[in-house]
Amino acid sequence: MAETKQHDERGEQGEKPGSRRQCAGCAKRDFADALVRVVLDPADGSLAVDLADSRFGRGAHVHASKECAQKALRGGFAKVFKCKVEGTVESLGEQILDAADRRIEGLLAGARRGKLAISGSDVVRAAYREGTAAMIVVASDAAAAAKLSEIQDAVAQGKAIGWSNKQRLGAIFGRDEVAVCAVLHEGVAKAIGSARLMALPFASAARSEAWWSAEDR
Ligand SMILES: [Zn+2]
Repeated sequence: MAETKQHDERGEQGEKPGSRRQCAGCAKRDFADALVRVVLDPADGSLAVDLADSRFGRGAHVHASKECAQKALRGGFAKVFKCKVEGTVESLGEQILDAADRRIEGLLAGARRGKLAISGSDVVRAAYREGTAAMIVVASDAAAAAKLSEIQDAVAQGKAIGWSNKQRLGAIFGRDEVAVCAVLHEGVAKAIGSARLMALPFASAARSEAWWSAEDR
């Protein structure tokens, strides 16, 4: 579909959201939203991950896969940044997981402020039945909420994700604990989904959620 759009093959200058960039790992060109943006800290040669695409500085892009990350760390990043780049797949993966968590947290907080997110299993279930819930976010330690039929249906439909824990979800809604919330806005839901997709290849057993991973492809 985007083949019909104009895109700048030259890279960094004048990039538009729909333009393609090169993966520093496999060297294939892909759309920016399929790639993780990595920024170099010139002070110490370390990498920082930027899923919100908001950090200044020279950026490189890499597919959210261990294979592409490995290749990029072996030479692709050094070529883009024109200097030695420190890092391992594990540390880059951890940074991507953290960046995805922060991105999802920020999106949920923004949605809550804009009254585009609701919390609590009763209102979330009602919104899902009415078709107004674009995405449901279930705290990973909310085993009881995960068993609710609406939530299980949403998981099967790809409209629910497991994320973080009840305390962190609660903090977003100004409560001690929140087990489940729903995002009522398609664009926000899509952004949360793509942050989640970036993180999945790097999610370790310790950090992934048993009930969710089992459902995951
Ligand atoms: Zn790649």
